[in-house]
Amino acid sequence: EALSRVAEVDVKGGWKIGDSVPYAALTKTFSLIEATTKRLEKTALLTSFFLLVIQRSKKDDSNSLLQSVYLCINRLSPDYVGVELGIGESLLIKAISESTGRSLATIKADLKKEGDLGLVAMNSKNSQKTLFKPKPLTVPFVFSNLREIALSSGHSSQAKKVSIITKLLAACQDFEAKYIVRSLEGKLRIGNAERTVLVALAHAAVLAKEHAGKRWSKEKLSSRLEEGASIMKSVYSELPTYELVIPALLTHGLSRLRTHCKLTPGVPLKPMLAKPTKAIGEVLDRFEGRQFTCEYKYDGERAQVHMLEDGSVSVFSRNSEDMKAKYPDLVEQLPRCIMEKTKSFVLDAEAVAIDKTSGKLMPFQELSKRKRKDVKVEDIQVKVCLFAFDLIYLNGEPLLQKSLSERRELLREHFQIVPGEFDFAKASDGSTTDEIQAFLEESVKDGCEGLMVKMLESDASYYEPSRRSVNWLKLKKDYLAGVGDSLDLVVVGGYYGKGKRTKVYGAFLLACFDADAEEYQTICKIGTGFSEEMLQTHWDTLRPLEITKPRGDIKPGGAKPDVWFEPKIVWEVLAADLSLSPVYTAAQGLVEERGISLRFPRFIRIRDDKSADDATGPEQISEMYERQVLAQSKGGKKSKGD
Ligand code: ATP
Repeated sequence: EALSRVAEVDVKGGWKIGDSVPYAALTKTFSLIEATTKRLEKTALLTSFFLLVIQRSKKDDSNSLLQSVYLCINRLSPDYVGVELGIGESLLIKAISESTGRSLATIKADLKKEGDLGLVAMNSKNSQKTLFKPKPLTVPFVFSNLREIALSSGHSSQAKKVSIITKLLAACQDFEAKYIVRSLEGKLRIGNAERTVLVALAHAAVLAKEHAGKRWSKEKLSSRLEEGASIMKSVYSELPTYELVIPALLTHGLSRLRTHCKLTPGVPLKPMLAKPTKAIGEVLDRFEGRQFTCEYKYDGERAQVHMLEDGSVSVFSRNSEDMKAKYPDLVEQLPRCIMEKTKSFVLDAEAVAIDKTSGKLMPFQELSKRKRKDVKVEDIQVKVCLFAFDLIYLNGEPLLQKSLSERRELLREHFQIVPGEFDFAKASDGSTTDEIQAFLEESVKDGCEGLMVKMLESDASYYEPSRRSVNWLKLKKDYLAGVGDSLDLVVVGGYYGKGKRTKVYGAFLLACFDADAEEYQTICKIGTGFSEEMLQTHWDTLRPLEITKPRGDIKPGGAKPDVWFEPKIVWEVLAADLSLSPVYTAAQGLVEERGISLRFPRFIRIRDDKSADDATGPEQISEMYERQVLAQSKGGKKSKGD
């Protein structure tokens, strides 16, 4: 299909070998991708575009493909470098007005009608009569201007940003203004998940480099495409940076990519995550007959600590953000915890707040009081201790494909306990219900959230980056009370309060995030669990995020809040149970046509370590719903039998 759609993605005339990639070709691809909901078609279109980029780039040019990929996922650097877009609505309206001569009021009125500033910009441009055809935009030109906008700071930066955006918009033709504005807003909204980009990259590389000129059978081609996509996904999960993967792909090809792209200290991995379980019995069912281990589930912040051969240390968050500025104390403590033979490593750990005098563990809230930047060691009130639970790289060698028991042994041999600064996650290998129950109670008494239960031996215990794996189970104290797992949801709307609460929002509309469709699906209205003080805090944070209409990537269903918000803030929420709903859109079509909603949702805390894209996804919600139905039917049968 990709080969047959190349002509649609191409631009007429002006794109010869060695030319800069025309931005028009990219935006044409975007508009075709946006027009279909079929994942395979989206992949094929993107493959066609990447294929053209590869075929028309000069031999040593990997930048064309790199920048094209970045624009497809709307990023300008690897996550850990953190060059981010997310320009506010008012600044963009100003630039659209300046470049098209339309008044601010007209643009705002259009926005209210359309709900998509990209569309408004495109229509404004296309209704404008121009005497001269502007010089066509190219991918490197757009990319470098977007970077300049993202990097400009300081007091005159607003004016500078408006001026660059105005200049870019003035040169836009056809669909270009729509996607430039959406890029600037921070979301392309074409349903282009990163997984699609990886598969399309692999397919384009196979078609361009391996298949070119050869007469492969359909079967051979399809198996090479499948194999290529799986190589690409596994390489990227070990080394999630296009800056290294793309040049290696172009130079060495897919078949040798694994040899050239391996886990590298300094490049953070997306961490392995766990599946929830509701009862100890469920853990035993899942891990039946196999060796597993239980560890304390510490209530802190995930910290992936890297040390390079030169001794430099980085600390990354769960989202691969650089946390050195937040945890200078961790960086300073680290050298005391390693042995002489430890030269380079990647450590998976939890940073936990501890009481300075008693050494007792303190809850996550204590850590979240810390500033995110410019923390000075001498000003630190809350001490942090690192609890290490995994070692994924040591002295030049990735350990992903060693069993957990081997990794754990290496961890203990190469690091040492420093009271109040570094310790190994407390573990117990007891495997009966009574032993697990006792260890769980002990963990809660010690200030933890519960237990993590992990496979210990064989390939089932390998470290799986970026996976929510069945080989790691979490057993929280809350589940045992029958409440179920908490969800991390995005606040997308607000309802004005009544009575005493009229000057704040009294309730909120929450949504989950579907990473494949790139959309926020509404799930419930929440009005419980808030103190007056907290409502005031939420008002202060959310009021600046108010927008006139639900953004195009919010799927509201029948929800009608008084105001809508930019989807940015994530809350952890607990609910009594889940139910099918004709109003909300979460997980629609996964279990049934109707969506799924939360009954009696209760606010637990703000999750400022998660971005909106890390919110709970529809698959997790449908899984939870199905488990609940299963549990109810089991429970039902039992009581009948009784
Ligand atoms: P949660 O709200 O449960 O923290 P999450 O989505 O952040 O959800 P989960 O996979 O559900 O992540 O739970 C794993 C998290 O628990 C890890 O990200 C880590 O921060 C924390 N954790 C604490 N102790 C451990 C441990 N011993 N092993 C693994 N993770 C641990």
